[in-house]
Amino acid sequence: MIIPTLGCPSKCAYCWSSEVGSPIMSIDTIKETVEWLKSFRNDPVTFTFHGGEPLLAGAEFYRKTLPLLTQDLQHLTPNFALQTNLWKMTPELADVLAEYKIPIGSSLDGPQELNDLQRSEGYYERTMKGYEIAKEHGLQVQFICTFTSYSVKFKEDIFNYFRDNGLTLKLHPALPSLRSDEPDKWALSPQEYGELLVYLMDKYLENMNQIEVRNISDYCRCVLTGRGTVCTFVDCMENTFAVGPDGSIYPCYRFVGMPEFIMGNVRDHPSQQDLAVSPAGRRMRQYKEYVDTECKGCKHIRYCRGGCPYNAIAPTNGEIKGVDPHCLAYKRIFDEIGDRFNKEMMGSFGLGMMGSQPGAGTGSRPGIMSLMQKMISK
Ligand code: SF4
Ligand code: SF4
Repeated sequence: MIIPTLGCPSKCAYCWSSEVGSPIMSIDTIKETVEWLKSFRNDPVTFTFHGGEPLLAGAEFYRKTLPLLTQDLQHLTPNFALQTNLWKMTPELADVLAEYKIPIGSSLDGPQELNDLQRSEGYYERTMKGYEIAKEHGLQVQFICTFTSYSVKFKEDIFNYFRDNGLTLKLHPALPSLRSDEPDKWALSPQEYGELLVYLMDKYLENMNQIEVRNISDYCRCVLTGRGTVCTFVDCMENTFAVGPDGSIYPCYRFVGMPEFIMGNVRDHPSQQDLAVSPAGRRMRQYKEYVDTECKGCKHIRYCRGGCPYNAIAPTNGEIKGVDPHCLAYKRIFDEIGDRFNKEMMGSFGLGMMGSQPGAGTGSRPGIMSLMQKMISK
């Protein structure tokens, strides 16, 4: 992950990751990153530009950075992604990003009024303007929807908005903001998040041909394959790193700007071992070991792995006092998928001889096996 700046032109009410006056990464820092990575590891890499708002770095930054990362690190077969609110998208920027076919993730919390209420006034229009430019240049954009303790009351409207506009729904629960006086004001509680996931699973099953709810697909894939498929459900430590605007290396973009989580700096070209023995590296390793003990009795441990370490240890300044607080939500949805799957398997086995189809759910709603079959056939 490359974090060109922590600055952001928006002031979303629940934001936890932007910082006013944050500097922009220099090309020299990119060059040092390339030098560092030349001999760091040999496996394929995906560079995700994140922020703050990464487009604040401007077209010239990407025009210089993308060739450096691509040509000098050919042996790592680099892929790219970018997470942006799209406000700063220009035809010039879109041209550079399109040349490298960079998939874009953006943020939209639902219909305009709701989105602007919890992000900021005028947010929706600015994002849509950037979206149009991105589309005109052939860029693929997917939106992440943050559900807060407020917007969850309008979950049906939000679902319908994404479905009716032909958008894939990927959701994210609002986290307690560590930079706010009222950290929990917008945060979605684990109970609410668990119920929301089950609700969205049912809505997804009812509307399977019109929308994809990405998180539900991911949870199903975990249960089906027994392996985590997104960062929250694998041991991300030692495989994910983030480079902040000044070249500091962190375990993930979420920690950028928190000095106690700095593992090293690209200018020192640290080895994997150097990062692992840094205090932040050791803390991440301790979390992994803690999960091995604490989640030992959980049937989901293989593909959950204790959830996100940031959620678990950032609010306690790195002290390990528990696993990811969203554990309750993860259990709720993993249990629901597993139970439905088993019930449908048993049902199709018992009734199959009488002509029942596997994948049948309750009433007119397709079952979870239909969803899994759809995923397999993809
Ligand atoms: S700390 Fe959390 S968000 Fe970051 S890579 Fe790990 S699981 Fe993903
Ligand atoms: S669901 Fe909870 S207990 Fe189970 S592995 Fe995940 S975090 Fe641990």
